[in-house]
Amino acid sequence: MAEHPPGSQDFIRAIVSRDLDAQKHGGVVHTRFPPEPNGYLHIGHAKSICLNFGIAREFAGGLCNLRFDDTNPTKENMEYVESIQEDVRWLGFDWEERCFFASDYFEQFSDYAVLLIKKGKAYVDSLSADDIRCYRGTLTEPGRESPYRTRSVEENLHLFAKMRAGECEEGAHALRARIDMASPNINMRDPTLYRIRRVPHHRTGTTWNIYPTYDFAHPLSDALEGITHSLCTLEFEDHRPLYEWVLNECDVACHSQQIEFARLNLTYTVLSKRKLAGLIEEGHVSGWNDPRLPTLMGLRRRGYTPEAIRRFCEHIGVAKRENVVDVALLEHCVREDLNARAQRVMAVLRPLRVVLTNYPEGCVEELTAVNNPEDPTMGTRTVPFSRVLYIERDDFREDPPKKYFRLAPGREVRLRYAYIIECVDVIKDERTGEVVEVHCRYDPDTKSGSGRSARKVKGTIHWVSAAHALEAEIRLFGHLFSVPDPDHEKAGQDYRSLINPNSLESVRGCQVERALQGAGVGQRFQFERQGYFCVDCDSTSQALVLNRIVALRDSWSKIEHGQTQDRR
Ligand code: ATP
Ligand code: MG
Repeated sequence: MAEHPPGSQDFIRAIVSRDLDAQKHGGVVHTRFPPEPNGYLHIGHAKSICLNFGIAREFAGGLCNLRFDDTNPTKENMEYVESIQEDVRWLGFDWEERCFFASDYFEQFSDYAVLLIKKGKAYVDSLSADDIRCYRGTLTEPGRESPYRTRSVEENLHLFAKMRAGECEEGAHALRARIDMASPNINMRDPTLYRIRRVPHHRTGTTWNIYPTYDFAHPLSDALEGITHSLCTLEFEDHRPLYEWVLNECDVACHSQQIEFARLNLTYTVLSKRKLAGLIEEGHVSGWNDPRLPTLMGLRRRGYTPEAIRRFCEHIGVAKRENVVDVALLEHCVREDLNARAQRVMAVLRPLRVVLTNYPEGCVEELTAVNNPEDPTMGTRTVPFSRVLYIERDDFREDPPKKYFRLAPGREVRLRYAYIIECVDVIKDERTGEVVEVHCRYDPDTKSGSGRSARKVKGTIHWVSAAHALEAEIRLFGHLFSVPDPDHEKAGQDYRSLINPNSLESVRGCQVERALQGAGVGQRFQFERQGYFCVDCDSTSQALVLNRIVALRDSWSKIEHGQTQDRR
């Protein structure tokens, strides 16, 4: 549920409103979404995108930049830049001409570093990275000052120039802020501002041999772009004093305000690029767009709509408190969206042959079916009906349990849009005893919509005409992890040991209604009584492949498994 009642504002929007009313920041709001191009976006990023771009859209004159935080050349590349842009656009947001790269500011960052050195606020340290860590102290112990902390401005300028010119080895020196080694906030104990990295950058090539840290580059990027509200996740709360120190000491004109909010956590999945990358590298999933992943590419391939994801982000709201959102809420949002929009069709996942013994051979009736009862403007279509049909194996029981209102020997059931049929015979495989075919009689006086179908039976099932159906492969997905909180590893337990081994079930030989003929990749349908499905990119004109986006709530399985209430 949203953290704030409908119509009211979350705490960030309340701050923005107040600042606008007070003419703070000149009466404008300017946010940014700052991804590092070192991986693909996931649903957690969607929360941040909806927040930053959403605020810019909601407040008059608001702007939002897309800024690539590309200050670490080792893991970044242009492929990620392009896919991030594609995902932001797909979600429905537009940065117009405001796409920026922190690497475009490298020269200015370096000028600011020189300014800090000249002010005596930064120094070149020659301790090793390990020693720097060691000297930093702990939460309970103050840090110790580096012996290099008292270097003269001249020496610092000289060494920094050498670092920049590529005359030093990686790790030989680092530029550090001179703040306070005894600060209770470890981030303020002379944090590193620049490191030597002899690595080519995906945009600046080999121009630079030094790269700024996040803590130095981020506030300056915000300042250079005129950002008014710099929204980030809670783990940066302890970095805020440093953010402000950098802005103050560098004498920048624009002081944006850092505001932290709780990151999105979702049950049964992980939302960390490192962990997602691990799943891919080790082959637990097929790639970044595996439909089981919470990546935007994966969700898109699975069939999620941008509308559903935006609605989900609205629903969860923005707050300061860490929590874990039930993935059932995300599923609910896509169900709600597709219920209003998706064309209904009939499809049989696990076919059982039904022969209507009293239906004339060779006869085909075209029956009228409604495309979407929620939206009459979507009209109707015809569905072919004939003597041999397929129904769902699960819709027939030789020995029906109590409250089972589907087909069984001697029982009647209605075929959706068609007739009432009665099971008169069951044909079994002699060897295995498996039911291979069911013989039924149809009642010609019960045609749906004919006005003569007054007779009522308790169950209605879906079906397809065997001669007209298309064969398809259908992929059913379960949760990627078998526990709700794989991200909160118990002592000694690796998240990979919590993977659900049955998260993918590929069902072949499914029989789907003729209406799917020629359906394009990404097209979505509701399969009546089953759920929402989307044509997968593995589909070809010869072989249809569909993903189950989400199941409909199945009332029978709840009765059978004694589940009386929704998990949410
Ligand atoms: P990692 O997944 O390794 O933690 P990251 O997701 O922080 O990395 P960035 O590219 O730095 O990677 O994220 C871009 C923006 O998205 C940041 O502003 C970050 O705060 C925000 N963001 C990332 N994950 C989430 C999340 N789960 N919920 C909300 N916002 C997020
Ligand atoms: Mg990050």
